[in-house]
Amino acid sequence: MPTALITGITGQDGAYLAQFLLRRGYRVIGLMRRSASSDVIGERLRWLRILDDVELVDGNLTDVSNLVRVVQQYKPDEVYNLAAQSFVATSWHQPLLTGTVTGIGAANMLEAVRISHPQARFYQASSSEMYGLIQAPMQSERTPFYPRSPYAAAKLYAHWMTVNYRESFGMHASSGILFNHESPLRGIEFVTRKVTDGVARIKLGLADSLPLGNLEARRDWGHARDYVRAMWLMLQQDQADDYVIATGRNASIRDLCRIAFGHVGLDPDAYVTTRSDLLRPAEVDVLLGDASKARTRLGWTPETSLEDLVAEMVEADLARHSLAARQGRTTEPER
Ligand code: NDP
Ligand code: GDP
Repeated sequence: MPTALITGITGQDGAYLAQFLLRRGYRVIGLMRRSASSDVIGERLRWLRILDDVELVDGNLTDVSNLVRVVQQYKPDEVYNLAAQSFVATSWHQPLLTGTVTGIGAANMLEAVRISHPQARFYQASSSEMYGLIQAPMQSERTPFYPRSPYAAAKLYAHWMTVNYRESFGMHASSGILFNHESPLRGIEFVTRKVTDGVARIKLGLADSLPLGNLEARRDWGHARDYVRAMWLMLQQDQADDYVIATGRNASIRDLCRIAFGHVGLDPDAYVTTRSDLLRPAEVDVLLGDASKARTRLGWTPETSLEDLVAEMVEADLARHSLAARQGRTTEPER
């Protein structure tokens, strides 16, 4: 039975990846940081009904000694480094924390693997945000990077460290440059979930408007379930490498609103407002990925359309709010 260690197992991708690996017969170890709210922190794993099937181990990306011990103890065949301060907007308010966790944290994990179990295959969760101010209309593995936020700068450091550990020490270390991917388990602060949650509240009479920032930004959105499959495929190759994972289609936030409101028969123009405090100090205006290399070498293609993704998210948010209302509970506050 192969063993996988996932950092960030309590996040969106960690939960879907754990589910994917369990179905393939893996023993799944998840690094979970200590929190006073640990009773609710496994919510995504609970939602997928796999909380009891994974082994959670206490750990934090900022403490390399603890990472060394964890890798030494479990000697995983595969390590997926998904943990990060992953929200771009927060990275301007907490740039040093973002650098420490998202950047140095990845280097800590690479060091732990190099010291304790260098034969493990390593996956780094890199991001399309590294393209930032885009240098080509479609971004591939060959497109130069131009990060536009502390988050993107930290991810770029982690990406190059992964490449360097592969080239310097011969480690099987791959970097997946993933474009935005979403699901019902997406954090509520991200725009897709904010929109689908807002649509559900409005439809159920719990809210009467949805404040957003820049409606013209465009993203290449896929489904997290499809994207974790690509992570695994990268680690099954003989040679480690870097891959762009994307759908090759993008849409604006305005388009996203049209699809989400349209799903419940509402007109977004009646509810969406714009607020200047939701604009960012620097914007990534447009992202569009070219995943030809992943298609050719990994045989990977996305399986979920944007319309199906948004429909699934709206339905999940409607169900969440309806259940909470029936149980007399309030759901988390609007963002
Ligand atoms: P989430 O924000 O949902 O999950 C982040 C995870 O990291 C959580 O489990 C969180 O734990 C954990 N974490 C944060 N800080 C630490 C720390 N100091 N030590 C240990 N664990 C920590 O992210 P996603 O699942 O959406 O994304 C997974 C990875 O992929 C991230 O690195 C993200 O930056 C990257 N990425 C995501 C994209 C996307 O569209 N989703 C696109 C490209 C890259 P806790 O639950 O305690 O907060
Ligand atoms: P990101 O691509 O990782 O930054 O993912 P987000 O989902 O946080 O943001 C995607 C795009 O949506 C960015 O260009 C944001 O500026 C834009 N956006 C517009 N309004 C909002 C909002 O209210 N919240 C968030 N999170 N993003 C917004």
